[in-house]
Amino acid sequence: MDAFGEGTKKEMAILKRSRDEEDESHLTRKPEVDVDHNTNVANHYNRLQEVGLAARSQSRIFFMRNFNNWMKSVLIGETVEKVRDNGQQHLSVLDLGCGKGGDLLKWRKGGIGHLVCADIASVSVEQCRSRYEDLRRKSHRDEGMFSAQFIMADCTKEPLADKFDRPGLTFDICSCQFVYHYSFESEAKADMMLRNACECLKPGGYFIGTTPDAYELVKRLEASHSLSFGNDLFQVSFQARGDYPLFGCQYHFNLDQVVDVPEFLVYFPLFERMASRYGMRLVTKQRFSEFFREKVKLSHHRSLMMKMASLEEFPGDHGGRPVSEGEYQHAREHCDRAGNAGIRLGTLSRSEWEAASIYLVFVFQKMS
Ligand code: SAH
Repeated sequence: MDAFGEGTKKEMAILKRSRDEEDESHLTRKPEVDVDHNTNVANHYNRLQEVGLAARSQSRIFFMRNFNNWMKSVLIGETVEKVRDNGQQHLSVLDLGCGKGGDLLKWRKGGIGHLVCADIASVSVEQCRSRYEDLRRKSHRDEGMFSAQFIMADCTKEPLADKFDRPGLTFDICSCQFVYHYSFESEAKADMMLRNACECLKPGGYFIGTTPDAYELVKRLEASHSLSFGNDLFQVSFQARGDYPLFGCQYHFNLDQVVDVPEFLVYFPLFERMASRYGMRLVTKQRFSEFFREKVKLSHHRSLMMKMASLEEFPGDHGGRPVSEGEYQHAREHCDRAGNAGIRLGTLSRSEWEAASIYLVFVFQKMS
């Protein structure tokens, strides 16, 4: 009997391609590995250079990054609204794995009162802090810039609560964007990250985030002839196929010179079960494709999408970049369809969509 109960054990088996009913060895946890992946991850993110808008707009993943940012904006915006609807005014938020502070503007737009930013990469935390100071200097008094604290910590190893400037601080929202999968190296690490996300949430508070969908990754791996899959923009490489341990199932993710790190499969039913130990109830789990289709129907989300240049205009000149024919075939076909001749539409290149569609959005709520 494992710690997660029979139901979860059965669901876990779905990830297995084939299994011997009597053989439960695949449910045993992988021993802790000696290599410190967290240090590698921190070093990797610390080395990343900030580039200006001009250079970014030339990047082959310019629209995908904007698209991901739009997804986060919608998720964050809607969650802030829900908390407000519950009568909460002075919102406090924990940004777990804040990176260089890519979401600071989203929090300012949400009019929150206090933000705690934590990340393992010291250089990123410092950049986040100076970005915040910049914003604060430039913001007008009536924009009401929130107060903030910055913490450099491996959130899979130590409790954050001991480090808060304000003892006993509790949060309305914990946001963990593109981070949680780094913790699934071991049960202890995944659990500490969850503890940090959930233990200081107020009753009714939300834990929101984005992470790769293990089903999608395994599906693509199993459809591939090798241990890797991807395209010109991104590659995912596994070490083995057919055996996917619950923790420590490592793959390497490489994204157009931006990300080049080891990551771990997050088997969602297990994540959900672990979160329930912290009183968390799953509210939403949606693939990026589903979330996008639902949210883009709302006009205020759509106009934000235009403002953020989250899709590329088609037909267009692709910013002068050379592109291969097949990259926009889907958009061309859409335009060619009867009745659509001459229209302009927003799209992502095929390669960008293949990368973006790996991810899912999750929302948990703390039960009172
Ligand atoms: N949330 C940010 C950054 C995502 S990149 C955004 O959406 O833009 C992933 C971030 O997770 C990196 O900044 C990395 O340093 C951080 N991270 C990875 N492992 C971590 C850990 N164990 N503890 C804290 N942060 C971690």
